[in-house]
Amino acid sequence: MICLSFDTDHMNADGMRRFLDTVELPGRGTFFLWQPFPDFDWGIHEAAPHPHFEDVRDPVGHFTDYFMELDMAVGSDTAPVGLRTHSCVTSHMISLAAAQVGCRYTSMTTRLGESGIKPYREPWGVWEMPIYYMDNMDFCTATNWPRSGHTPFDETLLDRAVQDDALYIFDFHPLHIALNSPDFEHYQSVKEHVAMGRGNPFDHAHPGYGTRTFYETLLTKMKAQGLESERLDILTPPKV
Ligand SMILES: [Zn+2]
Repeated sequence: MICLSFDTDHMNADGMRRFLDTVELPGRGTFFLWQPFPDFDWGIHEAAPHPHFEDVRDPVGHFTDYFMELDMAVGSDTAPVGLRTHSCVTSHMISLAAAQVGCRYTSMTTRLGESGIKPYREPWGVWEMPIYYMDNMDFCTATNWPRSGHTPFDETLLDRAVQDDALYIFDFHPLHIALNSPDFEHYQSVKEHVAMGRGNPFDHAHPGYGTRTFYETLLTKMKAQGLESERLDILTPPKV
């Protein structure tokens, strides 16, 4: 089971439209919204909140305000089923708050390239749906673990994900797909043009191998196996 999920950080509405119009997405994906995209039609895909935390003292209040801003108010028809915090900020209080505002899942723990990942039941009332692959995590790992021998964009990670029925949640940033980011340095070099939704990152795409190349390689491998992405809300086990 593959879920293509997307953290929309720094994308504006024009950039997201171009993303949906020009970047292939087989099946149904989950988009985590860093800001409201008014009147945006997410079609068959799931849209869910991507709250930014600067102060974690009142997570229930923060979620409630954030959902309202996204037009997904708690208790409404459009109330979100799950969420992913920006930078995957986690705590027991945040998991508990997610459950208290009606979410069934969170997707914030990161298990880069691990086998046998399963949803796990948080004692706080939500399922945690662990992330198998995240683009910027991949290209920052060698810096943080210099003796690990880690090389980014290892296509054996993709081969594993299309081989069996285990859960493989991919977390791509539309920003890094649009920029075709090869590393953190490239992003830093164009940041002033694209951060905070200022410009269109597609106009600053890296010409060599990068995040978009890796994403498209995944799609090719999925296609070869007849696989499509499924939304996180659909893949989450029922609340029992
Ligand atoms: Zn984020």
